[in-house]
Amino acid sequence: MANKFYDIAIIGGGASGLMLAANLNLAGRSGIILEGSGKLGTKLLMSGGGRCNITHAGSVKEFLIAYGNAGPILRKCLYKHNNLELIEWLHQQGIDTVEENGRIFPSSMKAKDLLNALVSKATANLWQIETNARASALKKEEGLWNIGIDGPGSVIASNLVIASGGITYPETGSDGSVFSVLRDMCISVNEPRPALAPIYVNDYPYSELSGISVSDVIVSIRKNQRKVKSMSGDILFTHEGFSGPAILNISKYAEAGSTLGLEYKKELSELPRRMQRVIEDRAKGPSGDIRTKVLEALLSCDDFIISGVDPRGMVTAGGIALDEIDFSSMKVKKFRNESAHAQGTGALYVIGEAIDADGITGGYNLQLCWSTACTAADSLQFC
Ligand SMILES: Cc1cc2nc3c(=O)[nH]c(=O)nc-3n(C[C@H](O)[C@H](O)[C@H](O)COP(=O)(O)OP(=O)(O)OC[C@H]3O[C@@H](n4cnc5c(N)ncnc54)[C@H](O)[C@@H]3O)c2cc1C
Repeated sequence: MANKFYDIAIIGGGASGLMLAANLNLAGRSGIILEGSGKLGTKLLMSGGGRCNITHAGSVKEFLIAYGNAGPILRKCLYKHNNLELIEWLHQQGIDTVEENGRIFPSSMKAKDLLNALVSKATANLWQIETNARASALKKEEGLWNIGIDGPGSVIASNLVIASGGITYPETGSDGSVFSVLRDMCISVNEPRPALAPIYVNDYPYSELSGISVSDVIVSIRKNQRKVKSMSGDILFTHEGFSGPAILNISKYAEAGSTLGLEYKKELSELPRRMQRVIEDRAKGPSGDIRTKVLEALLSCDDFIISGVDPRGMVTAGGIALDEIDFSSMKVKKFRNESAHAQGTGALYVIGEAIDADGITGGYNLQLCWSTACTAADSLQFC
């Protein structure tokens, strides 16, 4: 691999890097995927508990809401490469899909089928794929990217795509190390933190309810008495803390020391029986009597001080700042206009979870990989 030249190099062989390669036929050009770990698509294989909730049904308007403040900024690429296009592409690869409550899965319920399809299409598109090729240094010299690979060796590329994911589950290879390399190049990276993660609180009273879930709960985060965010949905009690969709979706706003408030939209008698017992115990006074006012308060605003968020979030909030990126091409603006030896060389692209955008649960994060990867593929078509 030493000093070999490629037209395009992608750092990261996860969902987004592979989606780009599967959508860009190199025909007469050269391209390489540098995957730092020994395996491709490890996180993709974990998605949806191995079943891979690949996208969501519904209109693009609904998608924009799922990404919070980033939604309107992502608009261009979400419209251009939407969920219907992704589903159609899967069908073309022989992967049928099913819908469960709006969530789209491969009918086989196997993430492996999707990974196989991406790898075989990328290979058919003439991409060279190297595993155990961890990029540890980046330099731009005379309009070309020099990518230092751990161990002896480097790759020279005309165009570079960052598809290195976020920081959660670092054992999969997504350890956020590329962020510090980018910061050294003065590209702003917003502090990455776990999202879609369980929340832990002080004096958690529900360990014994582990595995029980409750629907229709309004969950809120408050900091210094001010509401930061509120959402509603199902929550799940685990042995150590709160989980379930409403908790996962709000977790990126949670910080140690902030308050997590839970408001149950049910009467005590409508809650799971074991939970009723725990709540009644919590409402008992020193004499053992249930204090009605305390009981009402536990149902209408049960507040906990947050002790932390599980670092093993399904996704990363934070990452490469959105204002660094041109969303019609996924190019980093700073390098887009830089003069280079030949027109179209020297561009830097970013796709997937590495950018500072993340969706709620339901297939929105893999759709983001698809939309950003295909947008970059369109642009790289002409490089
Ligand atoms: C348990 C779990 C369940 C999930 N379920 C779903 C779901 O059902 N639906 C959904 O939409 N999303 C889900 N997600 C999120 C989704 O899987 C990710 O958002 C998506 O896989 C991100 O893809 P990516 O290619 O951008 O990043 P990654 O998948 O993280 O891939 C990045 C790749 O880059 C490599 N890399 C990193 N640094 C370097 C380097 N320096 N040099 C070379 N290579 C490097 C890594 O090894 C990795 O292979 C889930 C995530 C988890 C963890």
